[in-house]
Formats: sequence, structure tokens, C-alpha cells
Amino acid sequence: MWCFSLRSGLRTGELHLRGLFYDVATAQVLQVITAVVSHLDPVPRTIDNIDTLITLWRPLARAQVTARPDTTICKDGTMSAHYDVVIVGGGIAGLSLASALAGKCSVALVEAEQTLAYHTSARSARQLIPSYGPPVVQELTVRTLELIAGQDAGRPEPVLSPRSFLLIGDEATVRAQASGHMRRITHAEALDLCPALVPDSFAAAGLDTGSFACNAPVLLEDHRRRAEAGGVDIITGARVHSAQRLGSGWELGAGQEGFQAAVVVNAAGAWADELAVLSGVEKVQLQPYRRTAAIVDVEHPLPEICPMVAAADDSFYFRRDGEQVLISPSEHEPSGPEDAQPHPGDIERLVARLNTLTTLGIRGVRTSWTGLRTEAADGVPVVGFDAEAPGFFWLAGQGGYGFQTSSGIAELAAGLILAGQEPGPASRTAEALAATRWSIRR
Ligand SMILES: Cc1cc2nc3c(=O)[nH]c(=O)nc-3n(C[C@H](O)[C@H](O)[C@H](O)COP(=O)(O)OP(=O)(O)OC[C@H]3O[C@@H](n4cnc5c(N)ncnc54)[C@H](O)[C@@H]3O)c2cc1C
Repeated sequence: MWCFSLRSGLRTGELHLRGLFYDVATAQVLQVITAVVSHLDPVPRTIDNIDTLITLWRPLARAQVTARPDTTICKDGTMSAHYDVVIVGGGIAGLSLASALAGKCSVALVEAEQTLAYHTSARSARQLIPSYGPPVVQELTVRTLELIAGQDAGRPEPVLSPRSFLLIGDEATVRAQASGHMRRITHAEALDLCPALVPDSFAAAGLDTGSFACNAPVLLEDHRRRAEAGGVDIITGARVHSAQRLGSGWELGAGQEGFQAAVVVNAAGAWADELAVLSGVEKVQLQPYRRTAAIVDVEHPLPEICPMVAAADDSFYFRRDGEQVLISPSEHEPSGPEDAQPHPGDIERLVARLNTLTTLGIRGVRTSWTGLRTEAADGVPVVGFDAEAPGFFWLAGQGGYGFQTSSGIAELAAGLILAGQEPGPASRTAEALAATRWSIRR
């Protein structure tokens, strides 16, 4: 038995071969991650064992052959498709899933922009906060922290570094916002942690000491590297413009390229509903919301151990960024999917306000940016197969939690995809995120 996909390298005159092979001699399923053959070489119709495969192709090019686990979605005969899974969107959602699926089935990740993580994933505040968000988000944040911390041990530069999260406001709002991961602290303790706060600017405070700063560029690059090392093809500058059902799978057009896949993953961020519509799938009514941030110069830099500080009424946050400070007005304004840019005045108004609430002494704005936090009606991410469109998998609606839930969600999504359309009983977490839940519709 052999199942494979071929991509023509028209310019190079090569055929790119990848897929699963059953070695009759050793009764092993093997994966060819990449083999390249010349168009002129005869491609045999059957191969009985891995030695034949290696003899045929290794001298010709860079064949890498590895043993692989014999459990994938590919058992249903859809391996004639070029890929088992095509992920649309190269932000943190798509990249973390690509890295979780790498080496387990054949995967392509297709990104519209020339660079990965160009949109919201390049514009975050880079903080992971276990006390932030609804219960299922908090649970996924804790799992993401565990997974990233486990990988940090083997990384030259860690992704995580401790940075607590301080919530301030009036008594009722702090009480309403503070969850199990946050402990109440006194007014004096809050001022000790952040001496830049003007004492009468708040009445109550809560502290989340399990919160971490996230080196987002390192995390994104690590996912890209792991994905490619596991055989994932990453194609940038290719916007998916068409997608339709083809037999038991999907056929996609992206830029100049065509793809076939058993599963299409919609990780298109603010464009996730648009991608659904062009795929003939009913949208789940996701809404992108603007959020702006800026790096400002200050007269009095924050101490190194200063937590990230956020208003419990969601009207601002700020945190240390070396000698500068990152600030955000925490706006939540609906937007269409677009390359969002700051609105004039938003940052200037916040600078004036923070110069009364703190002693930072903000002197000027170095840079500012806006990203889109895309949410379902109930504010919970949408992860799972579509109810009506077989093989269409939602990985969207991460809102303001895309980094802090990324590895936990990727782990769950990879499990669901590898189990196929008809998994066993769904876990409580999978049910809370499912695209089929009633609370998703507006
Ligand atoms: C100011 C701000 C601060 C934030 N701070 C935090 C924080 O501290 N912690 C945290 O966890 N989260 C934070 N977030 C949220 C987090 O950044 C997002 O949840 C996350 O980046 C979303 O990732 P994504 O991959 O879903 O979307 P994106 O990064 O937008 O990626 C989607 C990709 O899909 C591509 N795409 C769309 N349509 C197509 C198509 N048809 N074909 C091919 N490609 C397509 C797009 O080009 C894009 O690159 C913040 C967000 C903002 C705006």
C-alpha cells in the first residue's frame, strides 16, 4: 500500500513526493516527509518495501524517511488528496496548530500576506493571564502556560518570563472581575508593586501572580520551525479565494496555487466568517473589534518587577516595556476585517488621562498600532468541525485571548482533527468551544 501526494515543481522540473508508505517487510507505516524526483525518472506504481523507496529516490535528492504512528485521519481513503489538512491563516492560531499536527499527517498552511503573523498576532500586548476571560479560557490559559513552560526548557531564549497582573478600580468592579486565579491585595500592597499609581486613582486591587510576559516573536518562530521540521508546507502570499467540496474532501484555490485536502481549518482571524462564506459554509457571526496600543516615552520608567496594570472597568492598561511603557485605551469598537490602523486622538486622550492617574510623566508616543480581536456572541473561541459542512474545521474567535490559549487550543484541535469527523464523546472543554453550541449565534 502506498498513499502519497505529488506537487509539481514546474520551474525545477521536479516532482515533490510526500505521504505514507506501508513497508511489507517490517509491517511498519512510514512517512516520506519530502522526496524530490525528476520528471524524467519513472515513478513506479507500487513499492513493496522501504528499501526500494530509498534506492529509488535517496540518491536523486533529499528523501527523509521516518517511521510514523499508525493513527491518523488518513484511514478513510482521503489520502489521494494533496494534503490531509490545509490550514488557512498564518497567525498564532494557524501556526500553533500546524506545529501540533506536524509529523502526524500531511499539512499545508496558507497565508494571504507575504509574511506570517502580519495582522493581529503581530499586535498583541504579549501577556498571558490565567485570571482573564471566561472559565474555559482560563482553563486553556493554564494548559497553554504548562505546555509553553515545558518547551522553554529546550529553547535558547525562553518564551515566558514572570510578570504579574494587577487589577485596580472601585471595590465593586474589582470584586466582579477578580476570579479564582486572582487574590485580593490591599491598597498599600498595590502601591508598593506599582509606585507610579496616584494613590487616590483607585480604591481596590487584585493580583494574579501566575501571569507571564510572552515573547510572542520567539513563540511564533518556534511554531514555524517545529511545523516545517515536521513536514508542514507553509505558503505565504496566497490568499484563499475559492473553496468547495470535492468528493469527501475540499478543493481550494489560493493565489496561483490549488490545494486538495480532507480537512480545511479556518484560522483566518478577522476574516474567518468571510472564508466560511466563500466556502459555502454558514458563518458563525464573528465580530472583529478594534484595540489600539502604543509605546510611549516616560520621565519615570516603571521598576523592573512592576506588574502589568489594568483598570477593572476595562478603560486602560499599561505595562513596562524596557525604559518605555506600553499603553492601551482598551477600546472595543466593532470593525470590518481590515488592516486596522489607530484612530487619531485615541492614544492622545489616554496619554492625558494616564498623566493624571500616574506619575509616569508620558512625554511622547514612539509608535502605535491597532489590531482586531475577533469574538463570537458569547465571547468564547470557536473550535471544532462545522455541523453542516463535513471537513470544515473552525479555529477562530480567540478575541483577546489568542496567545494565552494558543497551545491549549492547538492541542485540543489537533486531537479533534486526528480523530476525524466522528470522534468519541466530546470532552467538556471541546463542548464549550464547539462550533455547534447554541450560544454562538447573535
Ligand atoms: C492590542 C491587542 C492586544 C492583545 N493582547 C493580547 C495579550 O496580551 N494576550 C493574548 O493572549 N492575546 C492578546 N490579543 C489577542 C491576540 O492577539 C489574538 O487573539 C490573536 O493574535 C489572534 O490570532 P489569529 O491567528 O486568530 O488571527 P491573525 O493573527 O489575524 O491571523 C489570521 C491570519 O489569516 C490570514 N487570512 C485571512 N483570510 C485569509 C485567506 N482567505 N487566505 C489566506 N489567509 C487568510 C490573515 O492574513 C492573518 O494573517 C491582543 C490583541 C490586540 C489587538
